[in-house]
Amino acid sequence: MPGEIPFLEEHPGAAARLAAAHTLFTDLDGTLLGRGASILADGEGRPNLDAVTAITRLNAAGLRVVMTSGRNARQLRESSRLLGWSDFIGELGCVRSYDRGARVVYDTGIWREDATLLGETPYEAIVRVGAVALLMEAFPGLIEYHDPWHLDREVTHMLRGRVDVAAAQTLLDTLPLPITLVDNGIIHPLKHGLICDEIHAIHLVPTGVSKHGAIAKDLAEHGSTPDQAIAIGDSAADVDMAEATGLMVCVRNGLNDPMLVARARERSNVCATHATHGSGWAELADAWLAARAGA
Ligand SMILES: [Mg+2]
Repeated sequence: MPGEIPFLEEHPGAAARLAAAHTLFTDLDGTLLGRGASILADGEGRPNLDAVTAITRLNAAGLRVVMTSGRNARQLRESSRLLGWSDFIGELGCVRSYDRGARVVYDTGIWREDATLLGETPYEAIVRVGAVALLMEAFPGLIEYHDPWHLDREVTHMLRGRVDVAAAQTLLDTLPLPITLVDNGIIHPLKHGLICDEIHAIHLVPTGVSKHGAIAKDLAEHGSTPDQAIAIGDSAADVDMAEATGLMVCVRNGLNDPMLVARARERSNVCATHATHGSGWAELADAWLAARAGA
């Protein structure tokens, strides 16, 4: 199956698209980070410097790198600082932060202005309409909060488990607030209380918000076009970043998810790396540096 998606060097338009790009939108978990969400480890947890070496080279070359993640703003603020980056997109596109947090923009998609009550956060509104309780009741043992990463969130809910996405969405569609379930790919939590073997990160987001939507807004605000950006990720939802960028790259480990492969096949501007996690990220960094040097 992986062979059906071209590798980076096989993609006919990749070099030109890389050369034109001055912004990279990057997923974190399962993409830049290795096992245990370490930037100094590969997918198996072995010490590995590929990602940090690549980051140093990209920072020196002046590529704007924007973390684009399901993580919350508190987590991303610190991680961005650590790696020397100024802007990030958090909570799957609901929060955009600029200039080290000097400016923050929120997005709740198609929600009406009165969707939240006075003083209520969008996160609390999702609790109020009973979205999480509804799913836990419908899929006992198959979905739970992604403890402790579900804390400190302003808009989205972060869960884990394995549910029939279409069936879960049908249930959510009965609620008075438009909420979309996003399966964000395979994870390996150290501890959990689930009865399923394969566990996915599952997010509940206001309908109409997405990573690619946030990327489009970011680029428009910066006076840039999609052709001037590239993206990298490891989940089926990440593949949609191809809509807002010239080229979307999947790290090799992402190809283990059949949903990602199916979605990637539908798009002409998606390719894959040979290496997994941070080493795959470094593969893209090397390709961008080579393309820029040749441009
Ligand atoms: Mg990921």
